[in-house]
Amino acid sequence: MPTEERLAMTNDDRCTNCGDEIDTSQWYPVVTRTVDSEVQLYSFCDEDCRDDWTPDSP
Ligand SMILES: [Zn+2]
Repeated sequence: MPTEERLAMTNDDRCTNCGDEIDTSQWYPVVTRTVDSEVQLYSFCDEDCRDDWTPDSP
């Protein structure tokens, strides 16, 4: 796996739902999905945002 992609994923420390910065020094909710056989990581600032978030509709 190319390291650049992994770096890009770990650098994304903003909430997928609201766009707020996430305090990555503390626990935060993460959702993983497999899209086109690629594992995508979605991070959220809190559980409310994770519950509010709906994956892209087809
Ligand atoms: Zn949020």
